[in-house]
Parts: sequence; C-alpha cells; structure tokens
Amino acid sequence: MHFISTRGGSLGQFCDALLEGLAPNGGLAVPEQMPHLDAADLERWRSLGYADLATEVIGLFATDIARDDLSRLCHAAYGAPTFGSDEVVPLTDIGDGMTLVGLSEGPTLAFKDIAMQFLGEVIEHVLSRTGDVLNVLGATSGDTGSAAEHALHGRDRVAIFMLSPQDRMSAFQRAQMYSLHDDNVHNIAIEGVFDDCQNLVKRLTSDIDFKRAHNIGAVNSINFGRISAQIVYYIWAWLRVTDALPAAERTGFEVSFAVPSGNFGNILSGHYARLMGLPIRKLVLASNENNVLDDFFRTGHYRPRDAAGTLATSSPSMDVSRASNLERFVFDLLGRDPERTAAEWHQLDESNEIDLADQQQRFRTEFGLVSGTSTHADRLATIRETFERSGVTIDPHTADGVTIARDHVENDVPMLVLETAKPEKFADTITEALGTAVEPDAETRALLDAPQRVTAMPDDEQQLRAFISAHALH
Ligand SMILES: *Cc1c(COP(=O)(O)O)cnc(C)c1O
Repeated sequence: MHFISTRGGSLGQFCDALLEGLAPNGGLAVPEQMPHLDAADLERWRSLGYADLATEVIGLFATDIARDDLSRLCHAAYGAPTFGSDEVVPLTDIGDGMTLVGLSEGPTLAFKDIAMQFLGEVIEHVLSRTGDVLNVLGATSGDTGSAAEHALHGRDRVAIFMLSPQDRMSAFQRAQMYSLHDDNVHNIAIEGVFDDCQNLVKRLTSDIDFKRAHNIGAVNSINFGRISAQIVYYIWAWLRVTDALPAAERTGFEVSFAVPSGNFGNILSGHYARLMGLPIRKLVLASNENNVLDDFFRTGHYRPRDAAGTLATSSPSMDVSRASNLERFVFDLLGRDPERTAAEWHQLDESNEIDLADQQQRFRTEFGLVSGTSTHADRLATIRETFERSGVTIDPHTADGVTIARDHVENDVPMLVLETAKPEKFADTITEALGTAVEPDAETRALLDAPQRVTAMPDDEQQLRAFISAHALH
C-alpha cells in the first residue's frame, strides 16, 4: 500500500509514513487507495479476538510489515497485561438506545492508549530493522504525553522528551507521567502554559539541522499509525453488536457512532471505516465549548482559534484551537484532489478561514457526519442522568459524546458512544456532578503516592536544546 500527501506527491509505504506524518509540502499522509471490506470479510473476522482483528485491519495498510511480525506486534500491544482483559474493548449498554464502547482500559485510562500501545511496538520493530534510533519530542496537556510515555518507556532505540506545563495538569495526570523512572523517559515541566510548550517543540522541530542531528520524531495525532490502529475498534464494536442478530440480518446492519472530538483523529478513523464499507449510518461529532469542529460541520466555515480564544473546560482533552486531522477529511470531500486541498489550506494560511459552505449538505448526506456542542452544564447533567439510569459513571469527555448522541438516536439503529476516558481521571468534575466524592481505589492511591521524577525548566529554547543534546540517543 502506497501513501500520498493530501497536497500531492508520494510518501512511500506504511513504515515510511509512520515517522513522517507530515509531508515536506505540509500535507498529511493518506493511503493512495482506501481498502474495501465486503460482508464476507466482516463475517470471516467475527470469530477473531481483538489482537487478531487488529492484525487483519492494520495489515490492509501496513503491507510492508510481514504478517507474522505484525501479528506478534498486535498481540504484544493488545492483551490482558495492558488492557485488563483479552476483550481489550468491552461494550456496555447504558440505556436509551446507547452503548458505550470502552476505549479506556489501557494503562493511562484514556483512548489514546489503544493507538499508542501499537505505535510503541511498531516503532521499536521498524527501528530494529533499520538500526536507527529515535528521540520522540512532544508537548502535552495531559493524555497524549502519558499514553506515549507508557507505550515507549523501557524500549530500546527510542527515547522520549515530553514537555508539560508546570502545575497545570491534574495530580493524576502528573503522577501518571512523572512516576515513570526509565532512563529513556524525560519529563520536562516548563514554566508556562501548554501553548508555550508546543511553541518550544515547533521551534526545535522546524530547525531541520537540529532535527536531523538528533533523530527527532513525533507521535502526535496526525500520525497515520495511530489512525490505522483506531479503525480497528469501529469494526470490533460493529461485530460485537451484530453478534446478537440472526445471521441473515447482519449484512449491512447499520449502527451510528458518537465521538467526543478535539483534533479530529478518533472520528477520522470512523470516517475511514465507513469509507471502507463498514455499515455506519451516522458519525456524530461532539465538541465542547471549543467548538471549531461543530461550527465547521454545521456551516462549512472552518475558523481555527488562537490560544487566547481557546477556553479551559472540564473536558480538557477536547480543548483544541485547530483540528489537525481535518485536512484528511477535506481531501476526501474534494474528491481526493491534492491541488484543491492545497489551495484551501493556502487560503487558510492567508485568511485563517476556509469556506466550504457550498459543500455543507454533503457532510451529512454523503459522509453521515453530524455534530453538536456540549457545555459544562450539559456534562454535569449527563453524568448524573447516566448514573441514575444505568449505574455507570462516565467521564466528562464521554459525557459530551452522550449529550450529543442523545439528539441523534434513531429507532433500530444502535448508537455506540466511544468512551474516551475513565472517570477516575477527572474526579473533581465527577464529584461536582454526583455530589459525592470519587474515592481513589488502591491502584490510584499507589500511583498518586509513588515517587516522581521531573526536570523543571524555564520557557527557554537554549536550555531545552542543551538538555536534548545531552540526553538524546545517538
Ligand atoms: C484526545 C482525547 C479526545 C479527542 O480526540 P481527538 O482524536 O483529538 O479528536 C477526547 N477525549 C479524550 C479523553 C482524549 O484524551
């Protein structure tokens, strides 16, 4: 399978595109042709466990990895040691026509573990094949950094440098990152906010000489390896829902998915599953108050915000100012035409806006995409209602998904809401919603009490350069 840039040009195969998510012309890596699934493929996969299904699905894209190797990597990534059970992604009925798809059983209790655990395996595999080393540099406001560190700690040939804003993450998020003591994990707490961290990363990674000299790479949400691993659970969830049907009714049986969204990575994988032929009726995009994406899907106008215009909300992992994966959807919308896509993004650079209002109808009719915005009050009410109805406590991000999903439930179409984090991670909001404190379990207590290791640093590019030069693998 070959990969191309959304703005034109070839990017090689899966393993080439893996560490270079961004093409030199600024476009994003996409498959040259979407693989197609038919009903027979889905039936053949029905009896597979999660790791074997992942091997089949990711194998459609990663044709440059031998099947035996890919199977080994998927089994290492997806199993009871990391995800609590061999089921990996459990489904839970929460009533009112909605079912939760449990994506947060991994080590950091958020959905990013699913893609990152695979990425950690495949990166180590690719590096051992080429003999290279990789120094992953990133900035995090919480979930991405911890999922990346838990996927990469203790591995050979790869080190990770993760910048986080000092005193701006929850105690739980700090503990998840700073309690890792492996030599290849470097937590750096910057005196500043998340955007200061991200700006430092951008300045260093735009210095091509520095990047080359230190083998710097990224594992951010545009990484196609992550996107491919996320397609798996859409198919898994469809298979588990249709298991309950008589065989004659399974083919073409439609379900809808609701997805709490920020960078448009998770729901993009659903869009790809639908293009591949999975019977998805609607893809319901849920935004929080930072609703650049809901705005886009309702009006066709995409207007990214600046850092000052981005609010700090109680579903913080959805607090984004621009949705970095949207370009991949627009590429499909514009008939996979790289020139038109490049022209739209050129327009975005010029005027900070893209106007696709003339295409807006097609979002829903052709791609099944609908959207909505959920607020802090909605989250609290939904956490409470869901608990009262089903006894299940959901986290604030999942609550955004349930809030918007409810408006789109149809008779006889199961609504599958992606559960993107566990409530323990956001205890303050749960306490506010339910009126009772969430008592940390023994595991959480132990995590919070574990010794922490972190390097504090001012917002200073020279100091960061010196630190990386001194600690990078070469
Ligand atoms: C990252 C994240 C999201 C947003 O996912 P995108 O792929 O950026 O759209 C939603 N919820 C949680 C808990 C997350 O960590």
